[in-house]
Amino acid sequence: MRDIVILGSTGSIGVQALEVIDANPELFRVIGLTAGSSNHELLAEQAKRFRVSIIGTSSSEFSAELPAGVSVIRGSQASPEIASIPADIVLNGITGSVGLASTLSALAVGNKVALANKESLVAGGELVLSYGRDQIIPVDSEHSAIFQAMLSGKKEEIKKLVVTASGGAFRDRIDLENVTIDDALAHPTWSMGPVVTINSATLVNKGLEIIEAHYLFDVPYSQIEAVIHPQSVVHSMVEFVDGSTIAQASPPNMKGPIAYALGYPHRVAKATPGIDWTKSHVWEFRPIDNARFPAVNLARKVGEMANGMPAVYNAANESAVAAFLNKQIKFNSILKIVASTVESFSSRQLSALRDLSDVKEIELNAQMYAKELITKEVYAS
Ligand code: MG
Repeated sequence: MRDIVILGSTGSIGVQALEVIDANPELFRVIGLTAGSSNHELLAEQAKRFRVSIIGTSSSEFSAELPAGVSVIRGSQASPEIASIPADIVLNGITGSVGLASTLSALAVGNKVALANKESLVAGGELVLSYGRDQIIPVDSEHSAIFQAMLSGKKEEIKKLVVTASGGAFRDRIDLENVTIDDALAHPTWSMGPVVTINSATLVNKGLEIIEAHYLFDVPYSQIEAVIHPQSVVHSMVEFVDGSTIAQASPPNMKGPIAYALGYPHRVAKATPGIDWTKSHVWEFRPIDNARFPAVNLARKVGEMANGMPAVYNAANESAVAAFLNKQIKFNSILKIVASTVESFSSRQLSALRDLSDVKEIELNAQMYAKELITKEVYAS
């Protein structure tokens, strides 16, 4: 029986993780839950359903009704605090770099982290890794696939990692000038939260995942490729030095990678339906159009620069995406704002990240820079 803490329990990853746990009560027990400010009723319901005695919310108030004996931690420290409860696995399903503090606090007490919060590695980089790679099990579907495929050979036999991308809502759309929020939120294969869906439409999500892969697997950026695969069935691949490529495939369903991370090194039976070979399938792969989608190469560039530049890329993007969802800027302006912020910071000689406050300072500066750009007429919607 494994004791599991779930951070971001009312989000897409958290809800699916609870479904996996619900289907496997002999394997997993939930001992702590945290969620953001928007859905306290669901959080209370989850606490009741899974008989959890401690929950947390990032808001300062909590009004939903709870069973007797459940304690509630409120405020921005709730998730980091609950992440440090001794547990077998802390699943971090928080969206955004706000999840970094919780990842660090879980790792600091020796908890294993099932990481769905890619921003932890993008913004925290070496800081997160200072606790050791083997304390982190990836939940992002691409990284779970690479993690599984890597078991086919030795580290020094890896030639390259190939990260697949659905291509997002606009992979077949040439004109990105007049994209609406609804257009951008209509993801062809995955159902996810709004920020991840927009990041998927700009391919920033793939950029973040390349940086995440670099840190997780210690492979240089020159050996990490991305390829469009519209069906999202092959979740990523590893090519070995002998020219052999090992892929992990399953119909798109996050319960697969979630269950793999919670159960590792064991596989959880019936975690997700397999591929139906009584039907015909076409799996298509094509190169990324870097002119239309500059996000991937820009991510590679900030990744190579390291020293907080990935945090700048991510923070500028978080500000720009919020502004797009708020109808302040055009879809096409998102990457322009990110690129311009990166450009400005790349000449500033950032130094290595020492702690969480270093990350926060860089992020704050990048957000301030990006927010100033957001008010400019040229980017307005
Ligand atoms: Mg992914």
